[in-house]
Amino acid sequence: MQIHVEVVIEGQRERQRIATIQRSSDLAAVDGLGLTLAESKDLLERLQATLVREHAADLVAANSSCGGCAQPLARKGASSIVYRTAFGKLSLRCPRLYSQCRCGARHCGGESFNPLAMHLAQRTHPELLYLQARWASAMSYERAAKLLGDVLPLGAAPGSSSIKAHVRAAGQALATEAEEHGEHFFAQQPLKFPDSPTEPAAHVLELDAAYVRAIPERCGGRSTFGIVTGRLIKPEGASGWHAYVIDETINSLTQLHGFLDRQGVALDTPMAIITDGGADVGTPTILPWRPVQVILDWFHISMRFEHILQRLRGLCNSAPKPSAMLLRYAESAKWRLWHGRADGSLKRLRAIQLRSEGALLVHVTELISYLNNNSSRLVNYGKRYRAGLPVSTSTAESAVESVIGDRFKKNRKMRWTHKGANALLHIRVADLNGELEEALKRRHWKRPRAANDDYLDWFDLDAWEAAA
Ligand SMILES: [Zn+2]
Repeated sequence: MQIHVEVVIEGQRERQRIATIQRSSDLAAVDGLGLTLAESKDLLERLQATLVREHAADLVAANSSCGGCAQPLARKGASSIVYRTAFGKLSLRCPRLYSQCRCGARHCGGESFNPLAMHLAQRTHPELLYLQARWASAMSYERAAKLLGDVLPLGAAPGSSSIKAHVRAAGQALATEAEEHGEHFFAQQPLKFPDSPTEPAAHVLELDAAYVRAIPERCGGRSTFGIVTGRLIKPEGASGWHAYVIDETINSLTQLHGFLDRQGVALDTPMAIITDGGADVGTPTILPWRPVQVILDWFHISMRFEHILQRLRGLCNSAPKPSAMLLRYAESAKWRLWHGRADGSLKRLRAIQLRSEGALLVHVTELISYLNNNSSRLVNYGKRYRAGLPVSTSTAESAVESVIGDRFKKNRKMRWTHKGANALLHIRVADLNGELEEALKRRHWKRPRAANDDYLDWFDLDAWEAAA
């Protein structure tokens, strides 16, 4: 038995046969009923080739005449464009046309132009780019290339170095977009510092930092570098993710405002920012323009208490009497801090400090100075907790876990450059925020231009529109 697959192109009299599928009734000769994976890939590749060629020819035809006199522009020659899709890589032959019409109108700058190349900002279909970006943000470039090779037709799957280059470029474009969005915000707003919200804020931003392994020779000799991750929790339960490499980011505040803006958080919305107060990683702890309450992460406080409590429990075995009393003091200090009574907590910690030595003394002294340095960020944690509001960044769904995942984990062998990690982080958060596919599509076509408007080559229409 044979099945011929033909396509009918509107306006053309001849059908085009794109494939013939054969089957015999010999049971030993076939694996099962229906298409094999290889046949389906082959079929899609052929169909895609026909579709892309026809679509490109249509675009060329629609953009080959003069906008002034409607006559076809004179042909100078031909050139080729390589276009990658999820169903195959195609070389598209296109005419080159003279930019200047006989009537005197100019179609664009330069002597000649390719009408297809003029509109294509990318030579990779956005869906193929999306697959590459999505997979490469969760696994190594090599593994992504291998898995894409399994599912895409032969020749459609890009190699790992090509994926790396594509994903890197897409991620950098997202990072630039994010930066520009933030700058646009700053250009519009006169500086102000609204009062902190008086009630516990329902919009919560958890900010945390992490370190990833660096390629020392490309990162100023350092073996790690810092990244900031954030998770926005909205009252309705939805989350938005945010991340960047500190060394690749000029202004973390512009990034943060741009992110909150894209997430639809109005400027006067009261917000709580939960952070561990780590100045070493540069998490922003003040946020001009927005009514913000900065909260010291309860997880980090409780970890420090835990060191002290553990040591005291150990001491209870060797010197039960004084240690049991100090243990009660420490438990009471933690309880008071939880209920927003920082003064009482510190009083008890100082009492322990006076009666301790060695490692215990170090832990207690560190905790006291940690709490003193962050005194304005201590809140009534119990009250927030009972209201169902977060008090810690270290949850199962934490930003660090969700954004970094396995891809950047420190125990993996993978090493990063600032640029490479920053690009991939922007891909990762765009994907988590459900914005990745749309963002890649947005960049596929260049802005359509009317004929005889070559001034648009240098004229910045966005700036003009913004100013007008
Ligand atoms: Zn003309």
